[in-house]
Amino acid sequence: MNPLRALILAAAGNNGIRRLVGTAPVSRDVVRRFVAGESTSEAVTATSALVADGLTVTLDYLGEDTTDRELAEVTVQSYLELLDQLHSAGLSGSAEVSVKLSAVGQALDERLALDNASRICAAAEQCGTTVTLDMEDHTTTDSTLRVLGELRRSWPWVGAVLQAYLRRTLDDCRELAGAGSRVRLCKGAYKEPESVAYQAPHEVDLSYVRCANTLLQGDGYPMFATHDPRLVGIIDERARWHDRKPGTYEYQMLYGIRPEEQLRLAQAGETVRVYIPYGQEWYGYLMRRLAERPANTAFFLRALASKR
Ligand SMILES: Cc1cc2nc3c(=O)[nH]c(=O)nc-3n(C[C@H](O)[C@H](O)[C@H](O)COP(=O)(O)OP(=O)(O)OC[C@H]3O[C@@H](n4cnc5c(N)ncnc54)[C@H](O)[C@@H]3O)c2cc1C
Repeated sequence: MNPLRALILAAAGNNGIRRLVGTAPVSRDVVRRFVAGESTSEAVTATSALVADGLTVTLDYLGEDTTDRELAEVTVQSYLELLDQLHSAGLSGSAEVSVKLSAVGQALDERLALDNASRICAAAEQCGTTVTLDMEDHTTTDSTLRVLGELRRSWPWVGAVLQAYLRRTLDDCRELAGAGSRVRLCKGAYKEPESVAYQAPHEVDLSYVRCANTLLQGDGYPMFATHDPRLVGIIDERARWHDRKPGTYEYQMLYGIRPEEQLRLAQAGETVRVYIPYGQEWYGYLMRRLAERPANTAFFLRALASKR
């Protein structure tokens, strides 16, 4: 493993570093580059700024792997409050929410996660927006797709996420490419064994293109989540090939990553959705983003070393 990556991942487990990063003024800017804030109102403010720039948004209340019913309930309440505030601010036409089933109790009981996700979907419907279920590690894929299927009986607009690194994903794309089906395609963010996932980056990219073709060929609404300029170029070309007009698919990128590219695509008439994470549990998310890319790591270390 890249030594900087290893260092950042080691720092991820360190509470002293968490306090330093969270309170030092310069470091706080580092946090703010990737995370909208800790409170609902900060998340709504960040949403409002992006929407004013012609972007759309999906919001993630940070918190995963809940093994506690009360914590799952805190997550549900946070989403309900967020949806309410987005609606009051007139933003729910441009902003939806992304939910991790593990944060609403999947590890405890799939039924609990389904019930909790249903409450979020019902609130989203009332506010005139949608929900996408984030995808987590491969041990949860079947369960997440089962819950998705149940939710879609009442709310057919619930979005799925499929990860191109999984060998099964082309089949899942075929399964979920029907009319009205919202599917986010990403490379995949978890460390997965070779038995289930492609390991070489070029194999993942090839799988991404195969899956993108399948989704574009289908009748659903594909959401291409990637910062990879090569893939963005290929999708642009394939969308034309499949006679897809802008607005019948969208691009998605993370908050703070390639913001100029987000604007460029939006100004070219594409729908671009920015994934905004917020909430008190930002530390693990931030560390994963920093570990992903040496340039981010150097930026982080410079900010940490700064006295200001
Ligand atoms: C909106 C969204 C939602 C996601 N949801 C999920 C999910 O539910 N489940 C899941 O497993 N994963 C999710 N992911 C994460 C995803 O799976 C990848 O781990 C992550 O997006 C990195 O892959 P990439 O396609 O951006 O390309 P990478 O392989 O990371 O990068 C490819 C190229 O993109 C460019 N690039 C990348 N980062 C930067 C940067 N910071 N600055 C400038 N250029 C950069 C560089 O040219 C780089 O070579 C999501 C990602 C996004 C954008």
